[in-house]
Amino acid sequence: MDSFVYAVTNILVGVFVFAVGASVGSFLNVVIYRLPAGLSVLWPPSRCPKCLNRLKPYQNVPVFGWLWLKGRCHFCKTKISSRYPLVEGFTGLIFLAVFWVFQFSPLTIGYWAFCSWLLALSMIDFDTMTLPNQLTKSGLVAGIVFHLVLGLLSANSSVGVAKHLMTSIGGATLGIWLFDGIAVLGSIIFKKAAMGSGDAKLAAMMGAWLGWRYLLLASFIGCFIGAVIGIGAILLLGRTRDQKIPFGPFLALGAVITLFVGENMLSGYMKLFLV
Ligand SMILES: [Zn+2]
Repeated sequence: MDSFVYAVTNILVGVFVFAVGASVGSFLNVVIYRLPAGLSVLWPPSRCPKCLNRLKPYQNVPVFGWLWLKGRCHFCKTKISSRYPLVEGFTGLIFLAVFWVFQFSPLTIGYWAFCSWLLALSMIDFDTMTLPNQLTKSGLVAGIVFHLVLGLLSANSSVGVAKHLMTSIGGATLGIWLFDGIAVLGSIIFKKAAMGSGDAKLAAMMGAWLGWRYLLLASFIGCFIGAVIGIGAILLLGRTRDQKIPFGPFLALGAVITLFVGENMLSGYMKLFLV
């Protein structure tokens, strides 16, 4: 009986966490579409882009609203992109995965925020090939605040605050220097801009959240996946090398992988070389 209660509680918590994530995803959709266009993310509320009719509250429920409407506007029957429910559902799954690993802890709340920032930035980079300053800068500040809070919560808070702030600010600084350095080197070797300045700002933001060690790992994973997919795109899709591929989503993917398995990868790497 106890295990039954335990299972039911777990399922209810899981459903709740998914609902929170999907609701955040619904807001991320607004950010993804409106921020690059220079529109307010707070006003007006969700409406059909074609006929400007407002959605009813039950039509605005993440994922289910879109299914209820069968992917079309209730008023003018214009198709609503399936990207809306996909982003909502994906955010819900990320929230579940973070909760699964980090349980009831301040890390869970922090990493929910970090992943939300990364997802919005990745989608905007896919759409527009830019990483808006408002998002990378606010994300960097949020990362430093996150470490400040973790420091305050640690057993010896004065040492904890100093350690966490140095990790965070050190990571942000490394991010700027590393990627600006790569960009300068790339422009000398290839005689053209190899990377946007937005990528360095994204790396700085990731450094503020991850610290310098995990930033290096995340960058390495991101570059590796980016290179594999870039070469694959040239070979399979016949893309020329001049066609740009956004790099932000790969960096973000590297960051998320590092959140989940970075600890194991770094300790495995140490064992490989030190033992
Ligand atoms: Zn409409």
